Amino acid sequence: MTILVTGAAGFIGFHLANRLAREGHRVVALDNLNDYYAVSLKKARLAQLEGPCIETIDVADLPALEALFARERFTRVVHLAAQAGVRHSVTHPHEYGRSNMIGFLNVLDVCTRFNVEHLLYASSSSVYGRQETLPFRESDPVDRPASLYAASKRANEMMAYSYADLHRLPATGLRFFTVYGPWGRPDMAPSLFAERLMRGEPIDIFNHGQMARDFTFVDDIVESIVRLIPKAPGAAGETPHAIYNVGRGEPVSLLSFVELLERALGVTAHKRFKPMQPGDVERTWADTSALQAVTGYRPQVSLEVGIERFVDWIKRYHGAGSGAVRVPRR
Ligand code: NAD
Repeated sequence: MTILVTGAAGFIGFHLANRLAREGHRVVALDNLNDYYAVSLKKARLAQLEGPCIETIDVADLPALEALFARERFTRVVHLAAQAGVRHSVTHPHEYGRSNMIGFLNVLDVCTRFNVEHLLYASSSSVYGRQETLPFRESDPVDRPASLYAASKRANEMMAYSYADLHRLPATGLRFFTVYGPWGRPDMAPSLFAERLMRGEPIDIFNHGQMARDFTFVDDIVESIVRLIPKAPGAAGETPHAIYNVGRGEPVSLLSFVELLERALGVTAHKRFKPMQPGDVERTWADTSALQAVTGYRPQVSLEVGIERFVDWIKRYHGAGSGAVRVPRR
């Protein structure tokens, strides 16, 4: 089976591409290596890839995608390439139009024309917005995105549905819940906090500490994707489109997360409490029963163990003096 992983120089894509290659699949790893955060970190991830063939392509470039699909016969595509970041979408909206809307449309188009048997694509827990009903279920209303990033992910789900319905492209949307772990994104709280704690600098805690996230270890995310790849939706007479929450299902407060980080790093944080940031939501919590029913899998990695593994990595990475993990420039 030849599998295309887009966004493979990114955090989740890198782990997934490696896992699939280790399982013996032929993997093509696509990324445009954009500079939203340190390109050196993306290159360092690519250097760790064992097996996948790397293609530097922008998904907004339709002719380049077409040429790739004409060269390779992809049976499965896992589309993770996107402009990520809720807060960044408030200040830099256009990149979300280009990568997340035009790029996503291009992926749907080539997957349809080249008869891909299953497209899995990254959505996000952010589609739930500021919903009061907990935990979040796939059937909950998702018509009030709190940011353009969230809106672009919800739009992706509707675009995929229309392609599945009209063109019979089997597609599965993956609503990831705050992913953390080794090789994590430097713009997300775990890396931002760990970086500052290691330097002895204060950390900013938004919404005065009243935040909770369903932090999910990256290996659990990868295991869920691997199990979903063979499960193309499409029972007779149904639109071949499905959506799953991919999270741990056990939210923790940001303050508890910081406490575990302090313990793992052996430091005490100087916390600065700040108001809510535009576009942010107070809490996320995945109901994972649909994912469990179809994959038989429940996330395995506890927060304590996950944070220890993350801290081991970030210390080693900084110790190696790579300087690759730094905060985004924008
Ligand atoms: P990431 O930013 O580390 O990876 C995304 C990769 O896509 C990057 O390497 C980037 O260079 C690449 N990319 C961006 N635009 C591109 C384009 N136009 N063409 C080709 N490549 C492009 O992010 P991640 O954390 O690995 O997230 C992967 C996916 O999961 C994204 O779609 C993201 O929105 C989604 N997601 C992530 C989380 C999380 O907690 N990490 C949560 C919910 C959803």
